[in-house]
Amino acid sequence: MAENGMVYLVGAGPGDLGLVTLRARELIGGADVLVYDYLVHPDLVDWCRADCEVIYVGKKAGFHAVPQADIEKLLVDRAAGGKCVVRLKGGDPYVFGRGGEEARTLAAAGIRFEVVPGVTAVLAAGAYAGIPLTQRNTSSSLVLVTGHEDPDKHELQVDWPRLGALKNTTLAIYMGMGRLREIMTQLQAGGMAPDTPAAVVQWASLGRQRSVTAKVAELADAVESAGLKAPAIIFVGEVVTHQQAVDWFEHLPLFGRRIAITRTRDGNSALREKLEHLGAEVLELPLIQVVPEVNRDALIEIFSELGSYDWVVFTSARGVRVFFEQFFKAYDEIRNLGLLRFAGVGEATVRAIEHYHVKVECQPEVATADALADALIATNSLESAKVIVVTGNLNRDTLVQRLEQEGHAIVDCLPLYRTEKVALGDNAAAEDFRQRGADAVLFASSSAVEAFADQAADLALVDGATRPLAGSMGPQTSESLRKVGLTVDFEAAEPGLDALVTALVARLTD
Ligand code: SAH
Repeated sequence: MAENGMVYLVGAGPGDLGLVTLRARELIGGADVLVYDYLVHPDLVDWCRADCEVIYVGKKAGFHAVPQADIEKLLVDRAAGGKCVVRLKGGDPYVFGRGGEEARTLAAAGIRFEVVPGVTAVLAAGAYAGIPLTQRNTSSSLVLVTGHEDPDKHELQVDWPRLGALKNTTLAIYMGMGRLREIMTQLQAGGMAPDTPAAVVQWASLGRQRSVTAKVAELADAVESAGLKAPAIIFVGEVVTHQQAVDWFEHLPLFGRRIAITRTRDGNSALREKLEHLGAEVLELPLIQVVPEVNRDALIEIFSELGSYDWVVFTSARGVRVFFEQFFKAYDEIRNLGLLRFAGVGEATVRAIEHYHVKVECQPEVATADALADALIATNSLESAKVIVVTGNLNRDTLVQRLEQEGHAIVDCLPLYRTEKVALGDNAAAEDFRQRGADAVLFASSSAVEAFADQAADLALVDGATRPLAGSMGPQTSESLRKVGLTVDFEAAEPGLDALVTALVARLTD
């Protein structure tokens, strides 16, 4: 066996990305192979290296999950081949996650492994639904139990009546939704009072979380009429009575709201995070993807006489990063930038430049190519000046033309990447949007509007899906929205993600 083969059984937490451990993130970033299943947040996959082999072994609509024995064989084979394998599991690997079985197989095969714990669903459901799991005077023990029992599989039987007889106990039931009514009946058969408080928390820690509270005798009816299903945790015990007093998550201003954002360039995760911190369920529509495409000839030509340029202009954070990557390949220190002055459009772009401790001398208030041209021309420094414009293939022409014609600058383009459409036909996020719609779609730029309009046919909602409001970053974006025939329902008071989110909250909590 190759020496370096190793498997990490890693807990991915209950859903919210913020609840993934630092250790998990570090391991995902270093993995040669990533094996993950249902209930693991898909964005975790973005943390792995571009050359990492990513294998999904969970359930998909219409498909069965990969059999456990095959998963274990896969882990053993890859590790035996010398790979560093990360096996990601929802919640904690050793809590109803079959992590124990996988560890045993690895040990038997002589494969080195480590286990990284995760926040298990019950802990998240308690915290995010406002249910303390223990309480000094009423609840001194906590039982984690599975409600999933398949008589054909000869699994252990849970003695529900006996659990129903326990005093001062919180029961926290995983995988119990399929047999909820039966479990509640059996608990009462064991002596549990019918008015014992109980609750169900679905999709804990995520924007789509929902919860229902009722007495044990009435829980099944309440859950049925609310339409709650798996994945969910069932809580039974006095602790549930504290819910109203200590709930915080379900009181957040965007809780229960579903917000779509368009992924057209870097910097979106900042918007996603802001929305999620306010309790929203965020759906990212991947309309456009950025593909690296460095124009070598232009690069060599420009870098060989970098000292002769006056300005370098960026329209995206991606452009900034690739520019510096290439710069440090060609030169070994920052002083080779000479007197080059920096201009950038958009918050993410400016932040990316400042990351290198370089001052941004020109930044328009509005994030458009025209505003950038205006701001540069207003510096009165363009006459015969040499300017590098670092861009992709979008919006390049207006900028270059105006700098040349109105500013009389000598402009050289440095293309470092290309932007292309994502095929949405069988894209999971697009399908989710078509089926369920959203409460609002946020447009952070005109290019987002154009991409959305361009892909409209693949984003058409089915009957019954929620028709979203359209939110815009500012007048320019609003104009683009109107141009493609969309109504602007709210607009940020000033350019910037915070103002956009403020406008959204104001509109939805009206
Ligand atoms: N290893 C996991 C449990 C896997 S069993 C853990 O430690 O959490 C799958 C069950 O976990 C689901 O049926 C459901 O009961 C529970 N579960 C997982 N994620 C959940 C979530 N976000 N909200 C509520 N329940 C969840």
